[in-house]
Amino acid sequence: MANTYANSVSALTSRYDLHTHSMRSDGTLTPADLVTRAHAAGIGVLALTDHDVTDGIEEALRTANQLGMSLIAGVEISVTWQGHTVHIVGLNIDATHRPLQEGLARLRAFREWRAVEIGRRLQKKRIDQAYEGARRLAQGEIIGRMHFARFLVDQGYVRGHQQAFRQFLGHGKPGYVPAQWAELSEAVTWIRSAGGRAVVAHPGRYTMKPGELQDFMGAFQDCGGEAIEVISGSHTPEANRRFELVACERGFLASVGSDFHGPEKTWMTLGRLAELPSACIPVWRDWECSGLRTQP
Ligand code: AMP
Ligand code: MN
Ligand code: MN
Ligand code: MN
Repeated sequence: MANTYANSVSALTSRYDLHTHSMRSDGTLTPADLVTRAHAAGIGVLALTDHDVTDGIEEALRTANQLGMSLIAGVEISVTWQGHTVHIVGLNIDATHRPLQEGLARLRAFREWRAVEIGRRLQKKRIDQAYEGARRLAQGEIIGRMHFARFLVDQGYVRGHQQAFRQFLGHGKPGYVPAQWAELSEAVTWIRSAGGRAVVAHPGRYTMKPGELQDFMGAFQDCGGEAIEVISGSHTPEANRRFELVACERGFLASVGSDFHGPEKTWMTLGRLAELPSACIPVWRDWECSGLRTQP
């Protein structure tokens, strides 16, 4: 993958959204439509960070190049750390890097097995054909709980996604399957060896106790993690402030991402994020020097 310096000047002054999903994972827009919408919303630098897959990047890059905006190749890797599921975003990666792709392929194989198992468990609750329904809704290779949530809504079992998670898919609920995702150190190593930066996604969303969260941040740093999302679409303003302080104290670079999944989720929308506080060092600080990867 070639590095170019295209768009580096606009990148300095642009608005950033470095965490978004397309229908290649559990978002609802095509990569092209996602980029078009982000551009219309005033985003100048967008990262596509689908769960455990990078298939959408080429299409997103083509559209971004047509529109004259910068597209950062990214991924959101599912990780299990001491029994907790955490998400590590990789930014500015070489998506063709073999060890990264082999690792992601392993996670996708686990997802497929888990999906069949979720279907089996829902069947016991007299919910028929859930796997088949979710598979149909998952238009890419990735199948996840969001597709089951959409199936449950479509079939009238629940009124909305939140209820689907609360009642069936969340931790400890009848359709929940304990997961063994990537090791933290594996995920960080895949990202770094692919030339990217590892970022803790939405740190305000984890259900760890304060001491555990400290340990997690330390473990992440010890294995080479360099950044956290300070501003996240799924954070409260208090969480943004809290992780600004964590970033400053620990010397993490800071990232900004909406976690946009589609226009249906109106509270997590493109182009409406708070600005990165001036005390933070942006994760994109040296991208202008090292070059944005703007070609597949
Ligand atoms: P998975 O990686 O397949 O286990 O699914 C995780 C995804 O489900 C997240 O990325 C969100 O998109 C979605 N999700 C998780 N918890 C909830 C929730 N409580 N309400 C709505 N969506 C959720
Ligand atoms: Mn998701
Ligand atoms: Mn996530
Ligand atoms: Mn996400």
